[in-house]
Amino acid sequence: MPESHSPLHPLALAPVIAPPSTADEFVERFLHNLNFDRGVALSASSANDRYLALAHTVRDYLMARWLEDVRHQKEVQAKGVCYLSAEYLLGRQLDNNLLAADLTEVAGEALASCGVSLDELRAHEVEPGLGNGGLGRLAACFIDSLATMAVPSIGYGIRYEYGIFRQTFVDGQQVEQPDAWLALGSPWEFARPEDAQTIAFGGRTEKYDDDGVTRSRWVPAWNVQAVPYNYMVPGFRNGRVNTLRLWSAVATSAFDLRIFNSGDYEEAVRAQTFAENISKVLYPEDSTPQGKELRLQQQYFFVAASIHDFLDNMLADGFDLANLPERVIFQLNDTHPVIAVPEFMRVLVDEKHLEWDAAWAITQQCFAYTCHTLLPEALEVWPVELLGRLLPRHLEIIYRINDEFLVAVRERFGDDEMLVRNMSIIAEHPERSVRMAYLATVAGAKVNGVAELHSQLLRDKVLHDFDAFFPGKFTNVTNGVTPRRFLRLANPELSSLITAAIGDGWTTELERLHELEPFADDAEFRSAFARVKAANKRRLSEVLRERDGVEISDGHMLDVMVKRLHEYKRQLLKVLHIVTTYEGVISGRIAVSDVVPRTAIFGAKAAPGYAMAKRIIHLINAVGEVVNTDPRLEGRLKVVFPPNYNVTLAERVIPAADLSEQISLAGKEASGTGNMKFALNGALTIGTDDGANVEIRELVGDDNFYLFGMSEPEVEALSTRGYRPQEFYQGR
Ligand SMILES: *Cc1c(COP(=O)(O)O)cnc(C)c1O
Repeated sequence: MPESHSPLHPLALAPVIAPPSTADEFVERFLHNLNFDRGVALSASSANDRYLALAHTVRDYLMARWLEDVRHQKEVQAKGVCYLSAEYLLGRQLDNNLLAADLTEVAGEALASCGVSLDELRAHEVEPGLGNGGLGRLAACFIDSLATMAVPSIGYGIRYEYGIFRQTFVDGQQVEQPDAWLALGSPWEFARPEDAQTIAFGGRTEKYDDDGVTRSRWVPAWNVQAVPYNYMVPGFRNGRVNTLRLWSAVATSAFDLRIFNSGDYEEAVRAQTFAENISKVLYPEDSTPQGKELRLQQQYFFVAASIHDFLDNMLADGFDLANLPERVIFQLNDTHPVIAVPEFMRVLVDEKHLEWDAAWAITQQCFAYTCHTLLPEALEVWPVELLGRLLPRHLEIIYRINDEFLVAVRERFGDDEMLVRNMSIIAEHPERSVRMAYLATVAGAKVNGVAELHSQLLRDKVLHDFDAFFPGKFTNVTNGVTPRRFLRLANPELSSLITAAIGDGWTTELERLHELEPFADDAEFRSAFARVKAANKRRLSEVLRERDGVEISDGHMLDVMVKRLHEYKRQLLKVLHIVTTYEGVISGRIAVSDVVPRTAIFGAKAAPGYAMAKRIIHLINAVGEVVNTDPRLEGRLKVVFPPNYNVTLAERVIPAADLSEQISLAGKEASGTGNMKFALNGALTIGTDDGANVEIRELVGDDNFYLFGMSEPEVEALSTRGYRPQEFYQGR
């Protein structure tokens, strides 16, 4: 609050300015933003100008609530969530924010009266692709749900300058293009350079005497500035607007100046580039971390900034840190943010001078960990050498946490050296390294898996010894998707049909969809459903014609497999099914008239360094080229592979799908969320007993789920016996 000695204007005392509410007011605000923010007249404006002005107008409507919620959260000091995630795969914002603010109609009417098409402006938005796949999309769905459920919360992450690469195909092979999503400016972000945090790296630690107490401190070698960018996260029509805060790295001026003053201009520029590299690009690996130093820098950069931001700005003056567990839970989205644990300890012990034991007791109540995988290669480890060089004090803290933990393990389980080695946070082979999942498990108040089967396998296998040591710590929280984006927005016609039948309560209480069950026998409802599906197919067909110049034939079943390309997800198996059908027709084994007209739609990015995944993409495109042009198939089998699968494309493809392909090798897919989006849009599933498919099958019933393949115990038994595909091949 600015200081003033004369009486304040009444508007300066009101918490915020009220938003307009009619189409006329909307027009006024829109034109104001266009003229004054963009500096153009409507007649001279570009689509980008109009899109930005519209986005600013929508922001204006949400602003009052946002400012009020930020103020309120600080005043009330209720317990809240700090969701820490290295990825947020947000998708487009405009439509979501229009929906949340209940402005879609007013905006459409207002723009139409200016001769502007809302649809055109929608299409203009570049989605922020700040995530790889399911994990990043889950984070985006969670912050949406937290706002809709009015849970006080803030999402923290990284504002990558380049998000997930844009995929193109050249001769059927994947070629990656940079995703310059910020090139035309993002109207949804608010830069707050005045709230920047300084983040240190490197250097050494030292002990010092503080009035008779020996303490440790970190003497870092270099630092960068973390500048926050705030994004609104509006709840669905509940007047609630939470915050997503993404950090961007810039060189600190002190660091710069020292070098500039030494006269080495080139070195100064290099130092600046070095600092800014930290938030330059999202690592495009999905489920297979590469252990790169820059990635650890990114992780520490954003969690350190977030923890300091929370402690500096969110707590009431004079807050007693012993009460932190009643104030906050830091939810760790996989292992990427786990370095937050030793950072939190460092702040409490080295900076706030709490006793170690007190600090550790607080820490163990302030963190919770979501594990996303069962793949051993996806469990993040950091070489001790690297971690100690970048974060020497954190390594000391990790060692002490581990020492005390292993003492407790020995007390409890006896001197079973094998067990102690297996449970140690420090792995000795193949090189000495820190197991981040173990650190998170030891520190977390709760550890959750992301589907019933996955949570069970975590307890039985991956973290079995920890489950025995920490009874009750392990829980299941099956993943979910927001029905606002993936049904209301993506499938407006089905949404209307459902709402006409059971009212619109399902938008926030999805269980209400059970009320649709009687309509399964209602002929009128069923034909209305069929008409909606057909309309969605036509809409997809138009999108793909315009986007990629490909056609989808009328009357085809749409058989859809869209997700990251991974061997365990088995896109290869799907393409072999197509090859088998094709070969059957060509060899005369299958009458072409018996082939159900089908278009297989694929969408998948491969990590740039994942050679096998890239070869599978090449194969799918090559098979498509053969199958799509062979007249002997009479157009009854088609393969369509639009490049650059992202949230925007998902929102078009999924509502049009008849069949959802969820055929991962059982025991490999932790949950999946694509499977849920399809089920929500009325597609049937063909899938394995894996991840959340298990729960989906229980809900939709066996009639709507084609169960397929081996079960997890069968997979396990086969791999124990030894799986040699060559033998199957020769045995035929
Ligand atoms: C939902 C979603 C995913 C996750 O799909 P899975 O089938 O669960 O792997 C990946 N990418 C995008 C763009 C999504 O929307």
